[in-house]
Amino acid sequence: MDATLQNKLYSADTALAVADEAAKLPEATGDARAFRDLILAKLTYAVGKDPIVARDHDWLRAVSLALRDHIVDRWMATTRGVYRMGGKRVYYLSLEFLIGRLLKDGLNNMNLLNTAREALASVGVDLDMIAEMEPDAALGNGGLGRLAACFMESMATVGVAAYGYGIRYENGLFRQNIVDGWQTESPENWLANGNPWEFPRREVAYEIGFGGAVEATEGWDGSAVHAWKPGETILGVAHDTPAVGWRGNRVNTLRLWSARSLDPISLDAFNAGDHVGALAERNRAESISRVLYPADSTPAGQELRLRQEYFFTSASLQDIVRRHMQQYRDIRTFANKAAIQLNDTHPAIAVAELMRILIDIHALSWSDAFTITRDTISYTNHTLLPEALETWPVPLIERLLPRHMQIIYAINARVLSEARSSGASDAMIAAVSIIDESHGRRVRMGNLAFVGSHKVNGVSALHSNLMKETVFKDLNTLFPGRITNKTNGITPRRWLMTANPGLTTLLRETIGDGYLDNAEKLVALERFAKDAAFQDSFATIKHANKARLAKLIQQSVGLRVDPSALFDVQIKRIHEYKRQLLNILETVALYNAIRAHPEKDWVPRVKIFAGKAAASYTAAKYVIKLINDVARVVNADPAVRNLLKVVFLPNYNVSLAETVIPAANLSEQISTAGMEASGTGNMKFGLNGALTIGTLDGANVEMLEHVGADNIFIFGLKAGEVEQRRQSARNPGDTIAASHALAEVLDAVESGVFSPTDPERHKGTVQTLRTSDWFLVTDDFDAYTAMQRKIDALWVDGPAWNEKAILNVARMGWFSSDRTIREYSDEIWGVPTLPV
Ligand SMILES: *Cc1c(COP(=O)(O)O)cnc(C)c1O
Repeated sequence: MDATLQNKLYSADTALAVADEAAKLPEATGDARAFRDLILAKLTYAVGKDPIVARDHDWLRAVSLALRDHIVDRWMATTRGVYRMGGKRVYYLSLEFLIGRLLKDGLNNMNLLNTAREALASVGVDLDMIAEMEPDAALGNGGLGRLAACFMESMATVGVAAYGYGIRYENGLFRQNIVDGWQTESPENWLANGNPWEFPRREVAYEIGFGGAVEATEGWDGSAVHAWKPGETILGVAHDTPAVGWRGNRVNTLRLWSARSLDPISLDAFNAGDHVGALAERNRAESISRVLYPADSTPAGQELRLRQEYFFTSASLQDIVRRHMQQYRDIRTFANKAAIQLNDTHPAIAVAELMRILIDIHALSWSDAFTITRDTISYTNHTLLPEALETWPVPLIERLLPRHMQIIYAINARVLSEARSSGASDAMIAAVSIIDESHGRRVRMGNLAFVGSHKVNGVSALHSNLMKETVFKDLNTLFPGRITNKTNGITPRRWLMTANPGLTTLLRETIGDGYLDNAEKLVALERFAKDAAFQDSFATIKHANKARLAKLIQQSVGLRVDPSALFDVQIKRIHEYKRQLLNILETVALYNAIRAHPEKDWVPRVKIFAGKAAASYTAAKYVIKLINDVARVVNADPAVRNLLKVVFLPNYNVSLAETVIPAANLSEQISTAGMEASGTGNMKFGLNGALTIGTLDGANVEMLEHVGADNIFIFGLKAGEVEQRRQSARNPGDTIAASHALAEVLDAVESGVFSPTDPERHKGTVQTLRTSDWFLVTDDFDAYTAMQRKIDALWVDGPAWNEKAILNVARMGWFSSDRTIREYSDEIWGVPTLPV
């Protein structure tokens, strides 16, 4: 705050006097003045701070609470509306929500961004500065969790009455530090300064049981009645966060569960003087919502993880059924009023839990209960990686959830007898069974979710087709038509409007506001793709975004990079199938080539990486180290003359993505074909005017169809070819020997050129490539390198590059998650949406 204003404010006794005083200041006008008064009232009465002593954090909290008031008005109105109309509600169950920050996105959606900026400026506070202090809510690992967050925003935008259900982890995804080039992890305490967005609902609490036994008695008609008597019970307590759609169309609810002990302290133990021991039970119960499992694409095989899954699924289903009964008082209409979407198999136990509620508590017959369950539930598959398909040992489920195990067996018996009567072979019976008998007895959560759902979807066209040929081949034969595709999308509010205000403004000036409400109207931009004046403005904005990123790079890793160089970006979880290794090896090849031929016209490039590796994923951690090792050598080599820089930005999260993506020229989407289910990073980059270098994998295939082959750089083996090569007796050694550049790169890495203090360090990585190379890095290396040189050639032709970049923006509208949500609404949930 500036000193004169401070003096003025200091003279005021109370917040109202402060507000009166501030109202006399000239800058704030109209709505901004009212909003400033609201902020000052929040600062005084909710934060309890005098403006004169308020810190940046206090202002952040005050403006967040002021915005929240506006949101709550819409929230009440829209929630009341669906109640009155008796409409169907959608319930999105997800173990992860990768939310990021909420202030700017909320202001933007409520059309208060400029108002808030002006209001804060009038008291000497910079909105953009304090917005950066908001913690990044990382209640998820990567794409799957971010999809859930984009869907929450899009459901509110297109007018779907929806609740998101998940876990309120006290510690979200770990913070990544880079120490001497290695990843280290530390806890991320996103709640340290409180959370202004959430409303704790202590009165909305459900009992969640574990263990114990099932008692069978005889019902009035002689049939068996089952009652589960859990050995242990904990409480799930709701915390609600409003989820605002574009223009405040709707405000939905994200309800996250926190675990509490039913009996917070053991009074006997406390009385007996064992004050610490008395709290042990409480700690044990509350550990369920303590921490997010940091595994990406592999299930964490821990009992606590299964407890987390059942905990949030059960609390959510109890809440959904309670809401239905309160309003309609008839469980038989449940499927007409509720659609439950399972985001991956993490909530798949919902199939058995809903059956238990319907049969054991609401006394429905098996067949009525199963019809309702299947008509209500649908399931989204996110991966084909065999090691990522979730299974749990039968004895574990039997011990933790004995009634559910009975129900799973009973469902399975019916599925298998149906299969048998339709003439299935033994092999087919084994494949469709919910119980995997081949690796000890395990429950296949994917099969459970499949048979308990009316629709099962993949997340890109390629992925959905591969599902029919691989994991769910036999289930697809048994239940034809159940598998459907819903290609992922991203919300353009966060990923264009909030992340790239410069481009947003230019687009509005050029094609009007229509695209803000319907991203597919971005096609109107096509006719400006060759327009020299438009290209200039477009390039100026990209340059400004790059200058901003260059500043961040300087602050974060102390490296100076030139914003006029080609910014080549790969940011995503570190995983072998995503092939950051291919990228860094090509970087080494480029380094060698620049030194071998300094006379050539090399295109200056900055190679930018970011991403977290699962803490236990050693191969991925070595990739991070290799990138940093290469960076250290290349960035310090004068022979490179600043033609090449390599950067690894630590602690990739949503907020970092929002800064990096608008500054990218080239987007790396280079997974081994057939392994990336969809990708959504690819869409964010395209929408922000980066060109893609990528394989024909996931949604890249559909990006190619939308932007046209001239505007995307596709290389490498296709999914079918990958499959063929893996089945053939290939020898990566031959592939390496046939590529001079690759052989040279691998020799250098293996011999310690980039790790002189520990020459053996990357030997293991290289040996894996020479012997097995499951991810076909060596097979695709030459095609990738050749495509990078084609990209260099295009880069020198500025107008040609810009034309393609503009066409990417113009043609990415289809990848809005609004489109995805409309498809789910029409074809899976059966709920209406607002007209486009
Ligand atoms: C979009 C996003 C992802 C997913 O990226 P992919 O490139 O599709 O793997 C992961 N993490 C964050 C923070 C994201 O914003």
